[in-house]
Parts: sequence; structure tokens; C-alpha cells
Amino acid sequence: MLSLKNVERRYAQSGGHAVLALAGVSLDIATGEFVAIVGASGSGKSTLLNILGLLDQPSMGSYQIAGQDVAGLSDDAMSALRNQKIGFVFQSFHLMPRLSVLDNVLLPMRYAKSQQSPAALQAAEQRARSLLARIGLSDRIQHTPSELSGGQQQRVAICRALLMQAPLLLADEPTGNLDSKSATGVVQMLRELHADGQTIVLVTHDSDIAREATRVVTLKDGVVISDTQGNTG
Ligand code: ADP
Ligand code: MG
Repeated sequence: MLSLKNVERRYAQSGGHAVLALAGVSLDIATGEFVAIVGASGSGKSTLLNILGLLDQPSMGSYQIAGQDVAGLSDDAMSALRNQKIGFVFQSFHLMPRLSVLDNVLLPMRYAKSQQSPAALQAAEQRARSLLARIGLSDRIQHTPSELSGGQQQRVAICRALLMQAPLLLADEPTGNLDSKSATGVVQMLRELHADGQTIVLVTHDSDIAREATRVVTLKDGVVISDTQGNTG
């Protein structure tokens, strides 16, 4: 599903120095895998995830998603591909504070220009409700995010990432702001999604959480130093 070949990401810095955040990463991820990316702070995890998520582009090397090379895509084609294929979850939830839980989950519909028919909107709302029911929040859909616990907010953010049925879910330290009990709830949700066939790439520096994935890729200084099959689910 995803294929990176010799990907480098170089950041120019003031004074003429450059930081090589990724120094030649090759990685193939198949549909249905649950991959954890681990490594020390600064090892390139977020840079890698942003490239996988089409939020950033390699300076060198190639990236193919579902057989399509992303180099040379226009910005519009890139965002269309991102909307179709990728759901993103961040450490700090990024929910809209003034919107209800339901409207937060429905946000991706606002950006789906081709899907504004009443029938499409109704289908999306039904899907949002059923995603929220799955995480036990049916009675909270009209609440605002601040009325929920951190773990609940992150699970709402995961529902939002899944609204458009993206085949790929990317999560950058999704448990980084949570206590261990809330983190367990979020990881449990990811495990269930994986059991349903969702492809997941999770960045974490927490080795207990990484162990829940079926494959663990370790980065150091922008290169993959190990890639091991773990928990078989
Ligand atoms: P991680 O997520 O593993 O902590 P990052 O991918 O955020 O690592 O960063 C990898 C390296 O790239 C670090 O040295 C970081 O300082 C550098 N870096 C990341 N983003 C930028 C940026 N926008 N500009 C310059 N350097 C950056
Ligand atoms: Mg990071």
C-alpha cells in the first residue's frame, strides 16, 4: 500500500546549515498492517509520518501510495489524495472547541467538495453517529470537547480521522498527552480497528504502546535501525 524508497528529508536552516531529518529511509507497508514507529526525540518520526501522510514531501527518493507516485502531483491532487486515503491523529487532539462532538467528527465533510449532496451528508452523519456509538459516546454527541476526558477527546479525534473511510490511519504520539488509563483506551480502539482491517501507522516513544503493534520500526538519526514483527494481534 505504501512504499518509500531511499527517502531523504533535508531542512535548510539559517546560516546555511542543513538538518538531514531522514537520511535514506526505505519502507514498505502493506494493507492491514499495524506499524509502530519508535525512536528518540529528534530521530525523524514525525517527519516520516508527515511524508507518509502527504503533509510533507521527500527532498530525495520516492513515495508511492497505492501504486501512485506522489512526486509531481499538484497541490490539489495531493490534497484530494490525502482526503481520500489518509486519516490523521495528533498528540493534541486538534478538536474545534466550539463545535459539538458530532460536528467535530463531521468536519472532514466540509472539505470534501465532491460530496455535499444531502444524501452524502446524511450518510456521513449516520457514520459519525455509529463511530461515536462504538466508543460509547452516543449520549455526548452534543457536548463540546472540553466536557470530555482527554482519552475520550482523542477517541473522538480518531472517529473524525475515520469518517471518510480512509484506508490509512496515521497517529503521531496519540497517547502523548494522556494518563496511562486513557492511553490504554486509545490503544484498545486502535487494536479493534486493526482487527477490522484498518491499516495503522502509529508514532510513539512508549515501548508498552509500541508492543501492541504487529510491527515495530525503530528510527535513529533519520535511518531505520530495526524493523521487527511483533504482536501478531
Ligand atoms: P521526532 O518526531 O522523532 O522527534 P522530527 O521528525 O520532529 O523528530 O525531527 C527530526 C529532525 O528534524 C530533528 O533534528 C528536528 O530538529 C528537525 N526538524 C524537524 N522539523 C523541522 C523543521 N520544520 N525545520 C528544521 N528542522 C526540523
Ligand atoms: Mg515527533
